[in-house]
Amino acid sequence: MDINQLLRKNIQDLKPYSSARDEYTGEAMVFLDANENPFNQPYNRYPDPLQRALKEKIADLKKVDSNTIFLGNGSDEPIDLLIRAFCEPGKDNIVTMNPTYGMYQVAADISGVEIRKVSLTSEFQLDTTALLAATDENTKLIFLCSPNNPTGNSLNKEDMLKIVETFKGLLIVDEAYIDFAPGKSLLPELGSFDNLVVLQTFSKAWGMAGIRLGMAFASVQIIGILNKIKYPYNLNILTQQKALELLDQHEQVIDWVKLLIAERDEMTTELQKLPFVVEVYPSDANFLLVRMYDARGIYEYLVEEGIIVRDRSKVHLCDDSLRITVGSKEENITLLTTLKNLI
Ligand code: PMP
Repeated sequence: MDINQLLRKNIQDLKPYSSARDEYTGEAMVFLDANENPFNQPYNRYPDPLQRALKEKIADLKKVDSNTIFLGNGSDEPIDLLIRAFCEPGKDNIVTMNPTYGMYQVAADISGVEIRKVSLTSEFQLDTTALLAATDENTKLIFLCSPNNPTGNSLNKEDMLKIVETFKGLLIVDEAYIDFAPGKSLLPELGSFDNLVVLQTFSKAWGMAGIRLGMAFASVQIIGILNKIKYPYNLNILTQQKALELLDQHEQVIDWVKLLIAERDEMTTELQKLPFVVEVYPSDANFLLVRMYDARGIYEYLVEEGIIVRDRSKVHLCDDSLRITVGSKEENITLLTTLKNLI
């Protein structure tokens, strides 16, 4: 597939901004090229625009080549960049599933790009026939999310592979919650499909939502396009430093994930015992979608008690459902005790 053929014409023709540090090679001792202030080191310097040190470490961890990685200000950044690179406003369109993460729609709306939403089945799985039928010659991107937000389940791998094999545009699989679903990532498939993009993030299992660091994995060509249109210094020095530190202690993340999965299972059992809970849907993520009688009433009661969960009761296929993040043991006990007081 010729990815360049899919690109918007203005992006094909774009001459990207060239930052001061891109314009020389070799070792340097004195930097008088970027109008920085010599005081207040090391924050006086612009960060590495391509975050090379950080990408090397992530490449080791994920067992991919570092030039197949794009790093962004959260994974929301590559979502937006992919739309802006490939979709001509008012002409091209995007296909996604319903329900799913809301930013695909928001980013498409901001860019003035049509988004077509295809319902999941009642098991929250893909209807691959309907999804492919919703595409036409102007469909540039398909966004899937696995494990899915807000339903919590992983999509069937064979369904996603069928789509990437058949579709003539890019398939983007958002794996923000993949660390809670070991063995289910499409990352090992990257080498087989030059139209596949996998998104992951440091915001969930890594516990670093505050530093804003998201990853896109794709062919060298797609990564080159994202690099071409991003803000030159999209990741600040503090984010890069903090991520490097945590990557050195990644056993800690494995422990957090184990703990959160154990808590998720415990919460599932306890929530199922409550008389007003209809169903706790199986989850591969760090949250549970819970169907209950009078979800809105329970949501408002919890807010009054100072506990905030996410009301998804107006979302397609999620009638009467709240989305509850798995917190610390103490937080989860507080939630359960507060809910038991309703009985
Ligand atoms: N994808 C999904 C499915 C999410 O649920 C979220 C955040 N809630 C994101 C992406 C955004 O992640 P980030 O913090 O990396 O921008």
